[in-house]
Amino acid sequence: MQEDKILVTQSSMPSLEEYVQEIKSIFHSKWLTNNGIKHQTLENNLKEYLGVDNITLFVNGHLALATLLQSLNFPRGSEIITTPYSFASTTHAIVQNGLNPIFCDIEPDHYTLDPSKIEALITDKTVAILPVHVYGNVCNVKNIAEIAQRHNLKVIYDAAHVFGVKYKGQSITKYGDASMFSFHATKVFNTIEGGAIVSNHPELHEQLEIIKNFGINPQDHEDALEVGTNAKMNEFAAAMGICNLRHIDAEIAKRRQVHDQYFARLSNVPGIKLCQPQDEVTQNYAYFPVVFDNEIFKKDRDTVFKQLEQQNISARRYFYPLISDYTCYKDYYDSSQTPVAKWVAQRVLTLPMYADLSSSDINKICNIILG
Ligand SMILES: *Cc1c(COP(=O)(O)O)cnc(C)c1O
Repeated sequence: MQEDKILVTQSSMPSLEEYVQEIKSIFHSKWLTNNGIKHQTLENNLKEYLGVDNITLFVNGHLALATLLQSLNFPRGSEIITTPYSFASTTHAIVQNGLNPIFCDIEPDHYTLDPSKIEALITDKTVAILPVHVYGNVCNVKNIAEIAQRHNLKVIYDAAHVFGVKYKGQSITKYGDASMFSFHATKVFNTIEGGAIVSNHPELHEQLEIIKNFGINPQDHEDALEVGTNAKMNEFAAAMGICNLRHIDAEIAKRRQVHDQYFARLSNVPGIKLCQPQDEVTQNYAYFPVVFDNEIFKKDRDTVFKQLEQQNISARRYFYPLISDYTCYKDYYDSSQTPVAKWVAQRVLTLPMYADLSSSDINKICNIILG
């Protein structure tokens, strides 16, 4: 890797000394995984940080979501209404559980599921809605809850992008039946690889704890109650999480500075569309998506993307293509059914965004975009 390359993201890490201090006790105990002390500590610290009662940790966000879907025991072939404007994981978790994703369009301002288009997609096979709080933007949780209640559906949020985000002063995980966080290296809060499910249902967490450990009966370790998986977080990952959580507020504050500098340079440029702050939402500044409307702005997305590449700056076409246009799904879906999502996917670029991105680098990036 070249020295002067600006990557789209850079993982948050504690100092080496802080991490070494944290893992020393693992070398004494030789307890490496299966709900060790670090795991227990991280769980408690996260509950306190988020202000929630129940959390189950996982080896990654994807298996957290897949395990959650398994625990809900929907009949095979049931339908789940979700967004094509997300990362592969969201849809794969549905399909891997023998369920059918039904793609609903997104709204044009914050790219989250458009509640006004959900009800037309509900059939007698629909069991749940699985929206994504994409880029750290909060879904229309109120309207989604009303629809779910009216039709007796579960609401499961892919909350991979919203760690630390609050809505009306409370963790965003208070909404819906359950939420999945990803603690992947590229996310706002990381445990190297990791994830979690948060919900208001203690019984659900008992199920999750069982399924993530092969379905083994906690009362009788020689027996399995479920066809479970192995999705446990290990002690070294938990230790990284303990360290990173100490610095999370400072990291988000630095991300905010990056966001504000980008915003100042790029807002009010005709043909450049940015996400505006949402009412009553405390943001985490996870991503900085920019939509280039090439009918108004002088350059299209791919031109900007290439110009940045030529200057050793990697932006990301995130999300492009839509999940419904992936090779593994395109024969089953028609992405023209979700025209807003399709329009955005063809024009969006997420700019480099991380706590330590320098002011001069941000200026350089904006100069290339606007030049
Ligand atoms: C990162 C991500 C996931 C998957 O999380 P992993 O921890 O990488 O398994 C799921 N959904 C979205 C929207 C993501 O960005």
